[in-house]
Amino acid sequence: MIAEQLQALRALLATPQNISIVTHWSPDGDAMGSSLGLAQYFIKKGHAVTVVAPNDYPEFLYWMKGHDAVIDATQKPKEAEQAFRESNLICCLDFNDLKRINALGDWVATSVAPKLLIDHHPQPSDFAAFVLHSVAASSTCELIFDFMALMGDEALLDKDIAECLYTGIMTDTGSFRFPATTQHTHEVVGKLMGAGANHAQVHVRVYDDNSESRLRLLGFLLANRLKVHPEFRTAYFMMSDADHHRFNYQKGDTEGVVNYALSIRGICFAAFFAERDGKVKCSFRSQGKFDVNQFSRTNFSGGGHVNAAGGASDESLEQTIARFEVLLPNYKTALLES
Ligand code: 5GP
Ligand code: MN
Repeated sequence: MIAEQLQALRALLATPQNISIVTHWSPDGDAMGSSLGLAQYFIKKGHAVTVVAPNDYPEFLYWMKGHDAVIDATQKPKEAEQAFRESNLICCLDFNDLKRINALGDWVATSVAPKLLIDHHPQPSDFAAFVLHSVAASSTCELIFDFMALMGDEALLDKDIAECLYTGIMTDTGSFRFPATTQHTHEVVGKLMGAGANHAQVHVRVYDDNSESRLRLLGFLLANRLKVHPEFRTAYFMMSDADHHRFNYQKGDTEGVVNYALSIRGICFAAFFAERDGKVKCSFRSQGKFDVNQFSRTNFSGGGHVNAAGGASDESLEQTIARFEVLLPNYKTALLES
């Protein structure tokens, strides 16, 4: 954050403020960990804080401190709007463009309150007065730690904040294995553990909380819905509406499945296509240089990071897959070089 911004933000936060915190559509571990971690920190500083999630998030994140007070804007749009209207600071976490919060984007854009953007996605839009942004950061949670340190408040870290932040770092780095994991990431995690984060318990709560149907769905997808194209170093899953119903799909049930496709020897590009709510939600992952942020922006109205991105398609599942298959030869050289 540039010095003038930091100075102005410190001045604003020197007295109690009404703050709202919002994160991206379909919040994941980093989105909720950063939102709830920052909320706890601001509450400790004496501010009034409301966390708004555009829609629901997976149950395996419900244990985090502050979850009970989160406003799900899809369920309670009026309360969400009121929170923004009454705020004199709106924090936008783990997203880089107001399009990523769908209908909430208009309320945030038209609010006169200054915005604080804390994020690690490339190519952020210019809508915030205060910006803490780094594509080199493993996660937004890592940046929340950096933000507390910048504000001179590292000493306010406690077990609850530390476990929220640990969660997002853990999920966004694939448990500390993706290249975005740095020495600084581990140093931050050391400090979170020093502040009381129980890392083993966090892993169990997030990763060992499967329903039987979720595990059966994974088996089904692996056995029946995986397509491999070794000639393009590509593998992908598809999942229909009927598959969702058959396995009693709950939010978060397919989180991480795309990584199984990427784990196949020789594969550097993986995708997951899920027919949901009249759209096809797309997830893309890559290993090496192949840029799925660019791929998704160009072809699936999406975005994300170089090695992890998402998007959507208004076509049917079959049409979406057909279009994807047609695209692959255009990327053959890039895929073989990745
Ligand atoms: P996931 O595949 O887990 O949904 O998302 C992977 C990454 O891409 C995340 O960083 C997420 O924020 C980003 N992402 C997912 N969907 C979209 C989308 O529709 N648009 C943009 N711009 N980014 C997305
Ligand atoms: Mn993130």
